[in-house]
Amino acid sequence: MPRTFGRNAGQDPIAHMGEFDRIARYLAPLAGPEGLCLADDAALHTPPPGFDFVMTKDMLAEGVHVPTGCVPDIFARRALRSNLSDLAAMGAKPLGYLLGLSLPPHLDDIWLQAFCNALGADQLRYGLSLWGGDSICVDGPITVSITALGLVPAGTALRRDGAQPGDDVFVSGFIGQAAAGLHLLNEDAEEDACGWHTAYVAPEPRISLGDALRGRATAAIDVSDGLVADVGHIATASKVSIALALNDMPVHPQNPLGIEDAITAGDDYELAFTAPPEKRSEIFTLSESLGLRLTKIGQVRAAAAGQEPCTVLDTLGNAVAFKKTGWQHG
Ligand SMILES: [Mg+2]
Repeated sequence: MPRTFGRNAGQDPIAHMGEFDRIARYLAPLAGPEGLCLADDAALHTPPPGFDFVMTKDMLAEGVHVPTGCVPDIFARRALRSNLSDLAAMGAKPLGYLLGLSLPPHLDDIWLQAFCNALGADQLRYGLSLWGGDSICVDGPITVSITALGLVPAGTALRRDGAQPGDDVFVSGFIGQAAAGLHLLNEDAEEDACGWHTAYVAPEPRISLGDALRGRATAAIDVSDGLVADVGHIATASKVSIALALNDMPVHPQNPLGIEDAITAGDDYELAFTAPPEKRSEIFTLSESLGLRLTKIGQVRAAAAGQEPCTVLDTLGNAVAFKKTGWQHG
């Protein structure tokens, strides 16, 4: 699969196309009934009784969140799926999304078609549709902004602020896969056999897990900034501290980054969550039924003055020092 995309390859630059053409040709085919064919001022939706709306937005800019020149499929999948991962972290099921696009005028129409094709494929995969948005044609990096909307039974959304001292801490999947994939992408290395490339270009939002954790987990977050940083966000929101065990981290033994880099790199889109010990057997049964690795990685403790929200302990019980704990937001 090509990883970079030629610009100005003799195709039609999108600057030759007006906004209404862009909407009609590329975006309107993605619209669901709520989007009113993208021909009205706004979208319309009647939520079912007994559900809460869950809303989230993530932006993705070329050269900041994805490498410059990467293929349109990567933009589309990472932009949409990072939002779906946030819905999953709240226990919500996806419903629709609003799309904001800032595209440089030299970009060709083949890029835009491929981008929309990838969005369409993910719409089918995750059962949502485009409800509306806006696009502009302006010099600068390609920027994609998505607002995703989901539903959760009223009052049951997972949040970050419910972790209790004594709770177990779990994480899904392997950690550091996407960072290894980005490393390979930047190095233009060969395809790998361990799923690292796929973890970066097509992360899997853990929607079924999030849904199943409602009523079981006391707090949850998706791992986007880095496992240590994100677990720290749960600890801060819940006013507790969390101790993770370095030896229990689910990092693939062949990951070229090593454990410490893997657990502080971002982009995993796995779910980290806390649950009381009496739910432990249910959690492991859930792991089997979903066919998804769920690893117990630590424990919630009472907060103590001067203590970091999240510490990682080696086998001797000493805190491991990191250069950074996760992605720094600009
Ligand atoms: Mg998140």
